[in-house]
Amino acid sequence: MPELPEVETVRRSLATQLIGLRITGCPHLDWPRTIAAPAAAQFCALLQDRPITAVERRAKYLILRLDQGEALVIHLRMTGQLTVQPAGTLPDSHTHVIFDLDDGRRLRFRDARKFGRVWLLDAPGLALLHRHLGPEPLDEALTAAEFALLLRRRKGALKPILLNQQVIAGLGNIYVDEALWQARLHPLRTVPSLTDDDVQQLFQAIQSVLRSAIEHRGTTFGQYVDGLGQAGANQHHLNVYGRQGEPCSRCGTPIEKLTVAQRGTHVCPHCQLRP
Ligand SMILES: [Zn+2]
Repeated sequence: MPELPEVETVRRSLATQLIGLRITGCPHLDWPRTIAAPAAAQFCALLQDRPITAVERRAKYLILRLDQGEALVIHLRMTGQLTVQPAGTLPDSHTHVIFDLDDGRRLRFRDARKFGRVWLLDAPGLALLHRHLGPEPLDEALTAAEFALLLRRRKGALKPILLNQQVIAGLGNIYVDEALWQARLHPLRTVPSLTDDDVQQLFQAIQSVLRSAIEHRGTTFGQYVDGLGQAGANQHHLNVYGRQGEPCSRCGTPIEKLTVAQRGTHVCPHCQLRP
């Protein structure tokens, strides 16, 4: 499932292709539930001749800025793919929305599992989206001290807290497991049990795993591709996620898989002592 590094990779690959183009219509919409707002019937009419002025990301949301303060907002969820396609590309069975662009190419939203969602939001709608999300972990304005304050407001186990988008935005199952391994913290450790040094290590680990994953253009296990349709390479650089039974790259102990917060969770039982 795309997390911050994957969505950021899609953003970068779309920005170079889309900024300055206009959406001229949406000739294909075969799964109206994909459109979260407004009603699917109005959605296409509202997207006639709209310029794309910027391509941004907030947490795991892609934000295509249009005119009049509005934006097309896309959440890829499990299997969504947003790619620029050549003129004349026809929809396959997993293509749920196609946008025509004024240079003849097409922006295609493909989603095998159909959990992905698209919104056309006005400025107040966008402000609401931002308010519902915690800070961006790679935002230069977020200091280690502020991260510690955010974390110390919570009392429970680390993994569900880090998955909570209102605490810190953009992390999902892969990068929470990777960051906790790097910081040598078990996912069931509670916030009150952490020393200030633990919290500092965790903050650095979160930033480091995200930066590294963006450099490797995201992790592809299933459907994730960037805006050019290319898979990422970060799956070759993971330390715990999906590596159960394989040796820990730090100590050689086999990685174990357990369930935390109903999510498959990967740990090194030697480096990450269970509380
Ligand atoms: Zn280890």
